[in-house]
Amino acid sequence: LIFVLIYIIKTVSNRKRMSEIFFMDETTGQHNWLWFITNAERELKKKHNADRKYAVLDVVFVNYRNFCVCHSVEEGGKMLCRINDRIQSFLGKHEITAHHSASHFAVLLEYTDRDELEDRIHKMIDDLEHINDEHKFYYWIGVDRIPESKDEKGKIVRREDVDVEREFNNAGAARATLTVEDSAIAFFDDKMVEEQRWIDLINENQMRALAEEEFVVYYQPKYDPRTEELKGAEALIRWMSPEHGMISPGRFIPIFEKNGFITRIDHYMLAHVAKDQRRWLDAGFKCVPVSVNVSRAHFIEADLADQIKGIVDDAGTPHELIEIELTESAFFDDKNALISTIKKLRDYGFAVSMDDFGSGYSSLNSLKEMPLDVLKLDAEFFRNDDADGRGQIVVSEAIKLAKNLKMRTVAEGVEEKNQVDFLAEQGCDMIQGFYFAKPMPKDEYETRMNNKIA
Ligand code: C2E
Ligand code: MG
Ligand code: MG
Repeated sequence: LIFVLIYIIKTVSNRKRMSEIFFMDETTGQHNWLWFITNAERELKKKHNADRKYAVLDVVFVNYRNFCVCHSVEEGGKMLCRINDRIQSFLGKHEITAHHSASHFAVLLEYTDRDELEDRIHKMIDDLEHINDEHKFYYWIGVDRIPESKDEKGKIVRREDVDVEREFNNAGAARATLTVEDSAIAFFDDKMVEEQRWIDLINENQMRALAEEEFVVYYQPKYDPRTEELKGAEALIRWMSPEHGMISPGRFIPIFEKNGFITRIDHYMLAHVAKDQRRWLDAGFKCVPVSVNVSRAHFIEADLADQIKGIVDDAGTPHELIEIELTESAFFDDKNALISTIKKLRDYGFAVSMDDFGSGYSSLNSLKEMPLDVLKLDAEFFRNDDADGRGQIVVSEAIKLAKNLKMRTVAEGVEEKNQVDFLAEQGCDMIQGFYFAKPMPKDEYETRMNNKIA
């Protein structure tokens, strides 16, 4: 009997040890992710929890890496431990938490409605932010809600297929949309699924679209505000999708910038514009320079200027008919590479312009260092009403500054007659905006080339 007792005690304590080993987190010494999955799934599947709503949270301590750099990884680990304790102290019955990895924690919360849940998370954040006296920490929290399970008749039933990994991943996807340098909460919802599907769809179709020439060049004319003469145009992409109709660039350019396809697009646009210009020259049109957008992703390529020259020369188009637009975001990258590319482009006879000037914050510094031909004033200058005239002062000084730097100016997004008159007075060289013309297909643009506007 004694042996049997000893055996039982040994087995039980071994089990306990085993589960401690399996379920203990190395960093915090507390529960780990495996424990969380096991227990969250058990909790969610319980019959008497069927009518309770739950949410899975991905809580990230954002300052973790910085904290470790300033202190030590060991201190960072201790901080994670304290955070784990604090989260734990917020939890009620049926609720659990565990360290996931790095500075992520998984939390299972019970809730009644979204507002109540958000309130509670805010309270938790308030507390977690002040866990340390010297620093204000901040947290990003992704929330995935798991409502009750219902049968066909709408009756609440026990949850059968619970997948906590999937729910935590959803919470993580919501959390990944956060970028602010402050604590913030993001809920996972159907819109996010839709967005992700859209991104996937673009990724899947981009190669076919390029091969099938579904990308079309639209031209937006630029006019001299005094003489109303056509002085130039900007090439703007449109996607004519057989499934979705015309898609505007705002819906796919940011995706191409992330997945790298943007460099193919820029080449494609440049090649098409160069060909159009050559054809128009041969047909006897009075051609004006057309600007093409080149994304910042391109500027890591040392031979960019030669690539551009190659494409334009293939079409046999004079270089003075092509202008290259750089957005301000390009000016943050490798400055020296950028300057040398700009110089080369200008040596080849291409004009180079700074797009969306005034929408960022390093504009003035970039102007100091970059030898550019054209300054494009951002549409934002002309958006809000300007009751006290401060906007006019800024615009008029920007035009003067450009003139002193021997640059031409283009005002973008101008929609009102009084704005046109003001810009004409200030000596702005060109206007590109709906007041004169919207971006248009090329056959319509052709009719504008020889004509003055009506
Ligand atoms: P962006 O280069 O600053 O182009 C100007 C945008 O302002 C165009 O939008 C144009 O339609 C719009 N716009 C012009 N005048 C007015 C106006 O008076 N009022 C208003 N509300 N809007 C006006 P779009 O065509 O939708 O293009 C958006 C952005 O997408 C462009 O901004 C550019 O950054 C990017 N993009 C377009 N085509 C290309 C391309 O071929 N390559 C690259 N890399 N980016 C492109
Ligand atoms: Mg542009
Ligand atoms: Mg622009």
